[in-house]
Amino acid sequence: MKKIPMFINGEWVHADEERLIDVTNPSTGEVLAQISNANETHVNEAIHAARVAFESEEWRRVKAHERGQLLIELAQYIRNHADEWSLLECLDVGKPLSQARADIESAARYFEFYGGAADKVMGDTIPIEDGILNAVVLEPVGITVHIVPWNYPIQITARSVAAAIATGNAVIVKSAEDTPLTTHAISKWFADKVPAGIFQHITGLGNKVGSLLTSHPDINHITFTGSVSTGKAVMKAAAENVVPVTLELGGKSPNIVFADAPMEQALEGVLRAIIQNAGQTCSAGARLLIEESAKETFLAQLEERFKALKVGPGEADLDMGPLLNERQFLKISSRLQQAKDEGIVVVGGETVIIEGYENGYYIQPTILAGIDEHHVLAQEEIFGPVLTVFTFETVEQAIALANSTQYGLVAGIWSKDLDTAHYVASRVQAGQVFINNYGAAGGIQMPFGGYKKSGIGREKGFVALRNYTQMKNIAIRYALPNRT
Ligand code: NAD
Repeated sequence: MKKIPMFINGEWVHADEERLIDVTNPSTGEVLAQISNANETHVNEAIHAARVAFESEEWRRVKAHERGQLLIELAQYIRNHADEWSLLECLDVGKPLSQARADIESAARYFEFYGGAADKVMGDTIPIEDGILNAVVLEPVGITVHIVPWNYPIQITARSVAAAIATGNAVIVKSAEDTPLTTHAISKWFADKVPAGIFQHITGLGNKVGSLLTSHPDINHITFTGSVSTGKAVMKAAAENVVPVTLELGGKSPNIVFADAPMEQALEGVLRAIIQNAGQTCSAGARLLIEESAKETFLAQLEERFKALKVGPGEADLDMGPLLNERQFLKISSRLQQAKDEGIVVVGGETVIIEGYENGYYIQPTILAGIDEHHVLAQEEIFGPVLTVFTFETVEQAIALANSTQYGLVAGIWSKDLDTAHYVASRVQAGQVFINNYGAAGGIQMPFGGYKKSGIGREKGFVALRNYTQMKNIAIRYALPNRT
């Protein structure tokens, strides 16, 4: 069995045999590899190594544009290995190969974007008085910890690591226990390129290793991407040490479709927003809010498209792959059973057995309707290909429905009437709003993050560079001629 080592202080490190965790292919149920479940000593070693590396003259002397160049080289390396890495991501997460390929390209784009930004992170000067030069400089924060979820491993690793290295920090990544493979691939590249301790990869169970990392007093920033409940635990741990956090949490995002929407685009947008990565996407369009007068026609067409979707192993590159693991499968199956018991299933609702892949975790893409906005299936992030439908008659009802959950990550608005679309965009509580599209092709450059319980802070775009810098004001008095 292949054992994937951690990368700590420039060394490849394995835990002992008792501390190994299986990594499973969701499409087949087969074990792909094993990772180490790190212990406290590993975590302490990594944090010590990061501190030494961050404060070393060697790292300080690397110029901003050289850090940038390094990241741009990594982007090129990723593109050169796109076939191999797409397959790795597809096997690890179970997502269709073409979606894995898109993730690999996004990862390359993050390294490229932040590589280009590295020597453009500029401070400021502030006028005080003659004889004082007041400079505001942006310095790296120090040791940044990156806790990554399992659904988009390479993309989410890349988006914060690229910004943190670009600004000169020492990073420690904890990949999700289910999907460590592409982060390991990135570690292999960094191994030869940066001083020991600048990039490290730790693996293991979140409630142990993740919590050891996030509660450590010598770290300087945490970027956590995951569920609201874990996000709260991370924030509490960080509060003990007064460490800043960026939290990228869950969602229950609405697609709001008005009767005058460009219907073909809306149908395709609503469909793709919920089946991408089998609905295991923080920004999944999990709720359809449809104007009453358009409901019958729109739903009839959407049902046909749902029924035509093909589900199968990631490598077959069909419309939808499996769920991640048995835990997700059992959780979502029980929600589907509840929906069937309540008679609210419009399409789907069943688990699926694929010939030759009987141990994979497949379910049908599902539409539910006939519940109000307070129902648990209207409120909870199901994190599967399950779309819940609601209707509205007025714009104000649409806005109230859109805002009726604890989440506020993204929202889609579909209407040809730009007055209505802009008005709704201004009232929807969400960090990103899409009008007549959903996702804007990934948007590496666009700030991304949540309102309400969907998170704190923003990733992506230039704004995320601020997460990894701290501000220092330096006031310099200089002597003026002929003055005392
Ligand atoms: P999770 O919260 O269970 O785990 C996320 C990560 O945290 C994993 O690496 C896990 O090992 C680690 N972890 C678990 N307990 C921890 C603890 N006590 N301290 C520190 N780390 C700990 O989430 P998940 O199931 O891996 O991912 C799904 C969730 O992530 C969904 O809610 C989804 O919406 C969210 N998500 C958000 C974004 C975003 O950008 N907003 C992106 C992807 C996923």
